[in-house]
Amino acid sequence: MSTVVETEEHRALRAAVAALGQRHGRAHDREALWAEAGKLGYLGVNLPEEYGGGGGGMAELSIVLEELGAAGCPLLMMVVSPAICGTVIARFGTREQKARWLPGLADGTRTMAFGITEPDAGSNSHRITTTARRDGDDWVLTGRKVFISGVDIADATLVVGRTEDARTGKLKPCLFVVPRDTPGFGRRRIDMELDAHEKQFELTLDDVRLPGDALVGEEDAGLLQLFAGLNPERIMTAAFAVGMGRHALARAVAYAGERQVWKTPIGAHQAVAHPLAQSHIELELARLMMQKAAHLYDAGDDIGAGEAANMAKYAAAEACVAAVDRSVHTLGGNGLTREFGLASLITASRVARIAPVSREMILNYVSHQTLGLPKSY
Ligand SMILES: Cc1cc2nc3c(=O)[nH]c(=O)nc-3n(C[C@H](O)[C@H](O)[C@H](O)COP(=O)(O)OP(=O)(O)OC[C@H]3O[C@@H](n4cnc5c(N)ncnc54)[C@H](O)[C@@H]3O)c2cc1C
Repeated sequence: MSTVVETEEHRALRAAVAALGQRHGRAHDREALWAEAGKLGYLGVNLPEEYGGGGGGMAELSIVLEELGAAGCPLLMMVVSPAICGTVIARFGTREQKARWLPGLADGTRTMAFGITEPDAGSNSHRITTTARRDGDDWVLTGRKVFISGVDIADATLVVGRTEDARTGKLKPCLFVVPRDTPGFGRRRIDMELDAHEKQFELTLDDVRLPGDALVGEEDAGLLQLFAGLNPERIMTAAFAVGMGRHALARAVAYAGERQVWKTPIGAHQAVAHPLAQSHIELELARLMMQKAAHLYDAGDDIGAGEAANMAKYAAAEACVAAVDRSVHTLGGNGLTREFGLASLITASRVARIAPVSREMILNYVSHQTLGLPKSY
């Protein structure tokens, strides 16, 4: 890639993280990888230096996740812990909250999950009903969440709830840090068809009592703060998808270059080669959009980054799903064996298409926000 798109430092970071990923490999213990990546400063590259981070932004953090994914060992919790939670606390937390959380999130010794999805709201997050009410100096949270990743391994979950506007009576979004073992904060593991270290949970918040300083940021600026965290989430999901797509593609290319059943390796047949070339192009294009989104976000353009981050997430997920599909097919029967490790990516690659926001909701966003078309809902 040319220096116009990425600096020397970025390329050096790519190479260093790729080497770490290769040392660990796809079968390796993810906790050990998380600890080492944290110690080396990779998990907190986007967080402020003052609190132990690298002082960079999403451009750097997305490189880390993409390269670990390309090596076959993506760290899904990077999407939520340093990218969403770290960003929200760094931008909107009090000095006290920053000092309490950021050094641990930056070096990986602490992890934070993120919970917005609810069973009865799904893609329509305006409909969430997890409610926070004041009780003296405390907050009391009640509600349910679903599909929340890594709650068991996270020290706390950043929960999106709502408080009632005293003037209008309308509910507005607010963010609360809920430590894992808080009384009333229950979790049940969901049995997912995913071969991943990070599990998903259904959460119940049953009169969860939190101190006043559990609220992150202003009660009145909830939406703005939420978007500040959601753009990094989309950029990181794009990185996750580009990395996984590259991993699958590299394995298919290696296989197609060696496997011979007629006179030439199967990769010489254009019916095998062209789909792989197409995937390479699609992944490169998706990465370019991811870099644009990261650049806009890091430059402080939250609105511009919103559109680019959505498009990058869309493009990367579609490129990833296609790359995995084509790669599995390239391996013939071996594509479905455990030994070659590609079949489980068929399910894993679909995660990027549905989460954190589905393909259709991005198409809706572009239809309405970019193209100005009317809404059906
Ligand atoms: C592995 C995994 C990890 C996750 N981790 C987290 C997490 O850590 N934290 C968190 O908060 N959430 C998490 N999620 C939840 C994820 O963000 C949601 O699954 C996603 O937002 C979709 O919501 P839903 O599943 O309720 O689908 P629904 O909203 O029920 O949608 C179902 C289908 O209908 C389509 N649809 C809905 N409305 C429209 C419309 N208006 N126009 C066109 N199509 C529409 C959708 O595109 C989708 O295909 C995770 C999900 C998965 C699978």
